[in-house]
Amino acid sequence: MVEIHDVWKSFDRGRIEVLRGVDLRVRRGETVALCGTSGCGKSTLLNVIAGLEYPESGSVRTAGRMVGSERERVDLLRHKVGFVFQLHHLMPDLTLEENCFVPVIAAGGKRDDAMRLLHELAEATGVSHCLKQRVRELSGGERQRGALVRSLMNEPELLLGDEPTGALDEANREKVFAILLDLVRSKGRTLVMATHDLDLAKRCDRVLRMRDGHILDAA
Ligand code: ATP
Ligand code: MG
Repeated sequence: MVEIHDVWKSFDRGRIEVLRGVDLRVRRGETVALCGTSGCGKSTLLNVIAGLEYPESGSVRTAGRMVGSERERVDLLRHKVGFVFQLHHLMPDLTLEENCFVPVIAAGGKRDDAMRLLHELAEATGVSHCLKQRVRELSGGERQRGALVRSLMNEPELLLGDEPTGALDEANREKVFAILLDLVRSKGRTLVMATHDLDLAKRCDRVLRMRDGHILDAA
């Protein structure tokens, strides 16, 4: 599902070298946690996988496609990849339902199918009661579960999470993470997630540690 070979990425015209020859293979249906100290490059790597950042060298293959031109990258994000962030990135003045329709509209999906999927996902994540509410009125846990629903609305083969439960208190973190893993596994999706929480990480199929621009346990 993800095949990365010898990827190099720096910022500030090469002054900050973040990824220094990263190799990574993630198989379809796997759940993988990416750990490592703050600043080691976890978010950068997720962005490279999603096509949001472009590496200086190396090859990136995501969901069966080489990540190359602008057009290919937009296509990847619309149709193949879902992304959940630490801060939910939902639009506060729209309702949760309206937020969830944004990726469907962008991908040109059918409204009826999307509505069915929305209700199924909302049920599974426990946000059915607040679909018609504006996001600004929701609790942190509801927002994060709503963001999870939104990230799955385009039925992505690959779900990327950048500390998807990082902004929640312990009880909610546990709950949202369990829902996330359940959903990913029951739908046969693949998950790559950055997290600082080792207890959560251990519940994934594999834990990868990043240091000095490399993945230590690459397989
Ligand atoms: P955290 O656990 O704190 O989220 P991280 O492992 O996700 O950290 P990254 O966000 O990938 O780390 O950042 C890795 C390094 O790259 C950091 O030193 C950061 O300052 C730098 N960096 C990331 N994005 C940019 C950018 N757009 N411009 C310049 N430097 C950047
Ligand atoms: Mg990060």
